[in-house]
Amino acid sequence: MANNVDQPTVDAAVNGAARFTPEEVENLNTRFAGAHPVDMGRWAAETFGRGLVMTSSFGAESMCAIHMMISAMPDIPILFVNTGYLFPQTLAFMEQMRRRYNLNVLEYHTFNDPVVWLTVNGEPDPRRRNNVDACCAANKNEVFDRAMRELAPAAWIRGVRAHQSDHRSKMKVVEYSRRVNAWAISPLLGWSHRQIFDYMKQHQLPHHPMWELGYVSIGCNPETCTRPIGMEDDHRSGRWAGLDKKECGIHLDQGAGI
Ligand code: SF4
Repeated sequence: MANNVDQPTVDAAVNGAARFTPEEVENLNTRFAGAHPVDMGRWAAETFGRGLVMTSSFGAESMCAIHMMISAMPDIPILFVNTGYLFPQTLAFMEQMRRRYNLNVLEYHTFNDPVVWLTVNGEPDPRRRNNVDACCAANKNEVFDRAMRELAPAAWIRGVRAHQSDHRSKMKVVEYSRRVNAWAISPLLGWSHRQIFDYMKQHQLPHHPMWELGYVSIGCNPETCTRPIGMEDDHRSGRWAGLDKKECGIHLDQGAGI
């Protein structure tokens, strides 16, 4: 699979995003190798200012990245994609965190009615998806792309970590995303599950309520999309279990179809 990021050419980028040469990007990634994510977040806030947004699924460990970024920019816009198939616990958790930390959450919804979409697309059992790529394309990626077009950020903070998948292991902390037409910044890329746990404990940050039930990576509610896992399992193994699919598509440059 091709890396999702290319270096920008001066005429390829808008939103003021082409402010680094490839050499400068390389220097930044060298500088950030082993740096603390909080320092990367501060750099992003100082560098991009109002042009900065972050995405969050309000999943198991999402409060780690959110806490780091609101420390640097308290009102950073937090894009939350609502597919129509999220767990009620996720919606409740998002709302609880939004109020407790005064978060600037921008919730974008699928255009589709969740029940009608299943009926029209030959999905008779709401607990399963026969065609996960079609569902992710219609209800997650379309929403994400629409939101990013409207927000038109200069840079996007994302919570990916290198150990989560082969695709993510090839990412750099600072990359240019042609899909979003903005810089993609990944402060937590090099962090382990343990480091995140310790940070959350130190700052008394809550996990998603289903985390204690073995849901360590939480997406949508069909059992084909999110399952609890055992202590020894890979942390992403509960997502689309049994399928080759490892990404919803948001972190790929051409959507869910690849
Ligand atoms: S994760 Fe599952 S329910 Fe959610 S959009 Fe993708 S296929 Fe649909």
